[in-house]
Amino acid sequence: MSWVTFSWAAVIGACATMALPHLFIGLTRRTWENLLFAIAALAVAGVAFGELAIMHARTPEEIGRAMQWTHVPLFFLILGIIGFVGFYFGTGRIWLGIAICVVRIAMLVINFAFPPNVNFREITGLRHFDFLGDTIAVPEGVVSSWTRLAELSALLMITFVIDASLTLWRSGSAEVRRRALVVGGSITLFILVAAGMSALIHARVVQMPYLIGFSFLGVILAMGFELSYDILRAAQTARQLRISEGALRESEVRFRNVANTAPVLIWMSGTDKLCNFFNKGWLDFTGRTMEQELGNGWAEGVYSDDLEHCLKIYGRAFDARQPFTMEYRLRRHDSEYRWILDIGTPRLSDDGEFLGYIGSCIDITERKQAELDHQLQNMELARVGRVALMGELAASLAHEVNNPIGAMVTNANAGQRLIARGNVTTEELKDLLADIVADGHRAREVIEGIRNMVRKRKTTRSLVRVNEIIRDLLRIVKADAVTRKVALTTEIDSKAGSVMADRVQLLQVLLNLTLNAFEAMSVIRPDARQLVITGGRNRDGEIVVSLRDSGPGFPSGIVDQLFEPFFSTKAEGTGMGLAIAHSIIEAHGGTLSGKNCDDGGACFTVCLPEAREDRSKAA
Ligand code: ADP
Repeated sequence: MSWVTFSWAAVIGACATMALPHLFIGLTRRTWENLLFAIAALAVAGVAFGELAIMHARTPEEIGRAMQWTHVPLFFLILGIIGFVGFYFGTGRIWLGIAICVVRIAMLVINFAFPPNVNFREITGLRHFDFLGDTIAVPEGVVSSWTRLAELSALLMITFVIDASLTLWRSGSAEVRRRALVVGGSITLFILVAAGMSALIHARVVQMPYLIGFSFLGVILAMGFELSYDILRAAQTARQLRISEGALRESEVRFRNVANTAPVLIWMSGTDKLCNFFNKGWLDFTGRTMEQELGNGWAEGVYSDDLEHCLKIYGRAFDARQPFTMEYRLRRHDSEYRWILDIGTPRLSDDGEFLGYIGSCIDITERKQAELDHQLQNMELARVGRVALMGELAASLAHEVNNPIGAMVTNANAGQRLIARGNVTTEELKDLLADIVADGHRAREVIEGIRNMVRKRKTTRSLVRVNEIIRDLLRIVKADAVTRKVALTTEIDSKAGSVMADRVQLLQVLLNLTLNAFEAMSVIRPDARQLVITGGRNRDGEIVVSLRDSGPGFPSGIVDQLFEPFFSTKAEGTGMGLAIAHSIIEAHGGTLSGKNCDDGGACFTVCLPEAREDRSKAA
């Protein structure tokens, strides 16, 4: 076998070998770049085969036909390269690619329509010469002017490839630029070499066989290198993925170990809001299996009254990707509902991607119970306090109704006396009875008024105007103040505003402070007994009611203990009044403080948040 046959056969073999795996990949995975590469490589093999036939042709007809048929693989070679660049680079002007195909199709048509072929109008003979120890033939004759089409197609192709490569180069990373340089550069170079050589051979400037197959072998090698590089990289990525998957699995196992030994109940949810993990602590607590709890299964264990509220908090936080805290009752394995504090936080990946939520829960039943006890205690204190209020009300009531009842008795006595004397006129009797009726109405109004003040039995908060509550207080204590000879004065800001409060409880507090002041002032001279009640706003916009008496004030060192239950300096004192008042004001979100006034006497201040409605009206 000659060197020529050997070399060209080697090109054919190499191209076919490179084409086959890519043909397989292209067909099975439907990847266009592999398929187009295989077409281009097989086409180069075809071109090389055609060149062998040309070189070993014996007659002008044989060489003409060989050249004619070589244009078929050449067409597929160009189609393959254009398509490969288009798909692999993702760039390239489609219209340019179509123009090249149109020119090549036209060439194919001309090639077969006007024999011997598109390159020669007429082949007159063969020229033989020695090449690599073999005698090879080249055609001689009249070169066809259609060869200009071949030059045009080469020019268009170079333009297409350079344009596609430059666009790719500008768009990206070093990796992409290398691809543009290797594939784009080699295609441009070898097209120039192949076209130049063919032109030189046709013009008889050089004496050598067509080396189109050899030239395009370079292109195929460059394309094949890039594709193999991609496959290699994909394999590397897959390996890395396997390694990181392994690491992920390991860290997951570590997390599960930690979660399962943690003394808290842990759950996790995914981006679909559904729970996908519960730790051992949770499962032990509920006595249910993972399968039962997964998804929304956990909700079956939540106390029915708490569920809606629970889902609302979770749903709202989830949509806003915000942390949340909620309390609900969860059924324990022994069917007892326990109070749970659940703290949820969004889970994020290293690059900030939202993965769902993780929550940790603790059993706060004991704390809840203590809170409840405290509440009950406060209610009890309030009840005790109410008894004191009722006592004072009874005294006030007695005083207020004493007057009309006295008048009624007097009028009735007068009537009796007049009837006994027998000189009573019907008119006089009518007047007396009318007076009695009027006094009866007055007594009923007094009773009604005081009853209205304390009618609400349940703790209900409503808008309470400061000046109204002080007015009610005065109505209750007025009689007592007169008896105890206390001068009562009020300084109320007409825009004192309102508070959201339980009217009766607030009244109870103020009453308690007033009675304490009365008692404290009993040790001083009657004409010096003064109680000033002020109502208004402080600088922070809070509603303030203060009571300043002219009594002896607090003995030193007791201010800190004033509000402690059972603290009293009085022989008969219960020590509960201020403790109750303090707890009531605290429950209203306010403060109660006591101190000695600068000019003597005790001073108590109640601070309460201003009711919102009122604030909005003021604004
Ligand atoms: P009690 O009146 O049964 O003693 P309180 O809790 O109402 O219980 O009051 C606790 C103590 O606070 C009183 O014993 C008294 O020493 C002191 N105190 C309350 N108000 C005044 C006041 N206006 N002036 C002086 N001391 C007061």
